[in-house]
Amino acid sequence: MPPPPWDVVVVGAGVSGLAAATALRSRGLSALVLEGSGRVGGRLHSSPLSSAARVELGAEWLHGASPANPLAALFAAAGVLARRDERRGVRAVGPAGREWSAAAREALGRLAAAEARLPPLAAAQRREGAADASVGAALRHCGWVARAPLEQAAEWLRFDFEYAAPPQQLSLWHNMGEEFTWDDFGEEELRVCDPRGFDRIAHLLHERAVAAAGEGPPAAFVFDEEVVSVATTPHGVAVCTAAGREHLCRAVLLTVSAGVLQSSRLAFSPELPFRTLRAVHSVQMAAYAKVFVQWDEAWWRVASEEEGGRSDEGTAWLGEQYTLLVGAERGRWPLLSVVSSEAATLCFTVTGGEARRVEALDSTALWQELAEVLRDAFPSSVIPCPRVVRATRWSIDPLFHGAYSMLPPGAMADDGYGEMQLPVGDGRIWFAGEAWHPRYSGFLHGAYLSGLEMASKIADSLRSC
Ligand SMILES: Cc1cc2nc3c(=O)[nH]c(=O)nc-3n(C[C@H](O)[C@H](O)[C@H](O)COP(=O)(O)OP(=O)(O)OC[C@H]3O[C@@H](n4cnc5c(N)ncnc54)[C@H](O)[C@@H]3O)c2cc1C
Repeated sequence: MPPPPWDVVVVGAGVSGLAAATALRSRGLSALVLEGSGRVGGRLHSSPLSSAARVELGAEWLHGASPANPLAALFAAAGVLARRDERRGVRAVGPAGREWSAAAREALGRLAAAEARLPPLAAAQRREGAADASVGAALRHCGWVARAPLEQAAEWLRFDFEYAAPPQQLSLWHNMGEEFTWDDFGEEELRVCDPRGFDRIAHLLHERAVAAAGEGPPAAFVFDEEVVSVATTPHGVAVCTAAGREHLCRAVLLTVSAGVLQSSRLAFSPELPFRTLRAVHSVQMAAYAKVFVQWDEAWWRVASEEEGGRSDEGTAWLGEQYTLLVGAERGRWPLLSVVSSEAATLCFTVTGGEARRVEALDSTALWQELAEVLRDAFPSSVIPCPRVVRATRWSIDPLFHGAYSMLPPGAMADDGYGEMQLPVGDGRIWFAGEAWHPRYSGFLHGAYLSGLEMASKIADSLRSC
């Protein structure tokens, strides 16, 4: 039997798959990348909203943005433009346009005081051998219960906006016990504001992966090539696609989301071992939707922190970065942020069940709801009809099944992360991607490092064959 034509087939051209393909080539291995969509980047996706604005449909922040962050060098090499993120100076508007910024800051301060008690609580619980608990239970133990709408809005901003789930659904151990990103790389957060798009870094990785074709082992990319089955054979791995093609390789690296691995669209022969399935199904895919709205011209003005609270008749003042819309129902259209006042573009963010509900609405239905929300928040302003309304739809996209992995209480028990670093299928099927990085799951830098680290492990393993 001749050897398989490819050393490694990488499934997925998101940040993890791109990093892996580059690293495999540098270790002297050929790589074929099969991508189900027509583009690189995966959940890093910049897209024009109109000729006047480009928006980030997926990742938008570099969390822990110090030089120690593994993505910092790539970020700098791609020249991505970003500004410091500021959530403390958030502006809050209550029903009928009531000014609630000071009260929101006070609630956020109380929440931060309770939250500061969570890491020691999580550590003590672990030492005592107790089971994992929810962040919600731990917050209540530490004196925080979100009763009033303003407290619920503050809680949403701190937890749901970050983790795309309320505290009651989050694992205490994984989310509060160990905040690796900020512990390792510092507190700075950069929000990308680059008209050329954050996915410049994906394009740069792609260029690096295919650069110097003809020298060394090849790397090839096939787009619109969805993988539907992976089978181990005595001679290697057969990776089959929806188009009916079969690609043979010595090893396969799956970088698809946890949601895709959980779905029935991707079959394994033989089936994955139970220990792998247990880890894969213990995480959840969080829903996080952005709704971008663009007008012909901005009908608002942006308030600096000092100006916050002034209410000139007829002028809608928005926070420089964020405006909390405090309503009666927790999580219903809770936040808007200014994408660009010059391009007259705002972004509304919703998470969890609300995100799934919103993803199913068409632009007419979306605007009907948003117009009502805006009229209530800014009653003395005339809110014109927008020219574009566009929602992201990560949860209903079969190539993602959600925005990013979320860890509920009890997730990844019995060393689930350790299991996901090991190959299955006679040592030839490997996993990478944001969900499986033991320190930085959910994040872009977790996806990147996971791709690099697993590529290195595959290279070591194939060399010893
Ligand atoms: C709305 C949103 C906001 C986010 N915000 C941030 C943020 O601000 N900061 C941050 O650090 N992270 C953020 N994230 C998370 C971050 O984007 C991800 O962690 C990261 O991009 C995941 O990269 P990945 O390579 O692991 O997976 P993916 O990007 O999902 O790449 C997997 C690739 O596999 C392809 N694929 C799927 N199934 C198949 C198949 N069967 N065959 C072939 N190809 C397939 C997909 O099309 C995709 O291109 C956000 C994500 C979303 C959705």
